[in-house]
Amino acid sequence: MSKTATAALPEETLQEDQFIRKLLADRRRISRPFPESLETLFWQSLAQRSLQMIRNIATLGVLIYIVVGLITFPSIYLIADESHRLHDILIWFLMYLNGAVCLATLPVIASIPGLTPYFQRFIIGVSFVGIFFTSFLTVQYEEPRLTQQGGYIVVFVYMLIYFLTGTRPLLLWITCLIAGLLPLPLLWVMGIKFDPMIYFYSVIFSNFIGFFVSQSIIGKERISFLQARLLELDKLHSKLMSNELIRLSNEDPLTSLYNRRYFNEAIHTEWDRADRSGEPLSLVFVDIDCFKNYNDTYGHLKGDDALVKVAEVLKNHMRRSSDMAARYGGEEFILLLPNTPSSGAQVVANNIMKAVDSLKVEHSASLTGKYLTLSIGVATWTGEADMTETQLIAQADSAVYQAKSDGRHLVRVFGETH
Ligand code: GH3
Ligand code: MG
Ligand code: MG
Repeated sequence: MSKTATAALPEETLQEDQFIRKLLADRRRISRPFPESLETLFWQSLAQRSLQMIRNIATLGVLIYIVVGLITFPSIYLIADESHRLHDILIWFLMYLNGAVCLATLPVIASIPGLTPYFQRFIIGVSFVGIFFTSFLTVQYEEPRLTQQGGYIVVFVYMLIYFLTGTRPLLLWITCLIAGLLPLPLLWVMGIKFDPMIYFYSVIFSNFIGFFVSQSIIGKERISFLQARLLELDKLHSKLMSNELIRLSNEDPLTSLYNRRYFNEAIHTEWDRADRSGEPLSLVFVDIDCFKNYNDTYGHLKGDDALVKVAEVLKNHMRRSSDMAARYGGEEFILLLPNTPSSGAQVVANNIMKAVDSLKVEHSASLTGKYLTLSIGVATWTGEADMTETQLIAQADSAVYQAKSDGRHLVRVFGETH
């Protein structure tokens, strides 16, 4: 058993706590990747936030997208010259469809729990498809003003990907660069003429800008992540500490059985429960025979060892989750057995006595033989209205007294004559 409550805190989380504090004190190191487990947690937390945001704004997003479609379609109709109007409307429609398909996959992924662990991979895939088709289509407008407008859309798509998806910027940068450059040979093969400057600005330059800005955003995210993680660890540590303090206040430090204080609480609760249910409640009072002599013969430390051995036997005989064993005093123990009639408690008592006998703990100064033995008293409450918990404990104690006066190394039941 640990000596102090702080010793109960896991080494791993304590180290993580210290590491984060150091990192926060030296902000130059924050933009670098964290150690692997923390780094994974960081990206997971960003992905979780993005998923949550996607879930929250999915309906609003659909409405906005429809409104954007309703506004841009007439403007395309008005801006495009009649000679190539149909062609430009077709390009617009394909771009709009591409955007709709790419954006629609996000809430679908967010709503299927089995897919969320792969969210970042989907983002990479969707970004690739989105950027590829948008770049490929936007330069195909015959109307230069529409190409320019398409260029703004590409920039907007980049910003959306970089700032809202919480995906690693370098990975996005490479993906978007490839997706942005790939249409070039295709356009060339197809013999489609386009303005390389617009292409450069909208597709390549905005990818760089997106990358650098999101790098700096991620740096800030790292700080808030560390602060949030520190708070989480603090919470975890206080919870563990308070659990440990509760455990220490309920436990006997030598045997790690429950202590008498906790036993008094437990018998009170079980008494009320038995009172309501009408079930019998039994106590088994265990006292080591001639233990003073044992200490005098073998010393106090050996005495402590013997107490621990007996406690182990008691623990091993607590078969039901509601059974409890406590150290009641120096070499006295008590078992609380809810929903157990006297016959059941006697079986437990006899088994415990035999189990200690079979340990064969040498006790040359015993009055009962060569080994350490127990005297055990059993008392059972079967719902008698005029009885109290204290009286039941006194009955179990008096049954032990009976066992002692009958010669020790015996089980005696209160109220039974032998
Ligand atoms: P009986 O058979 O009548 O029960 O005799 P006993 O000697 O066991 O009973 P008594 O009440 O006279 O003595 C109990 C002894 O238990 C006294 C004390 O030395 C010992 N004891 C109590 N607490 C501890 C403990 O924490 N460690 C050790 N080693 N001995 C303890
Ligand atoms: Mg005693
Ligand atoms: Mg004793």
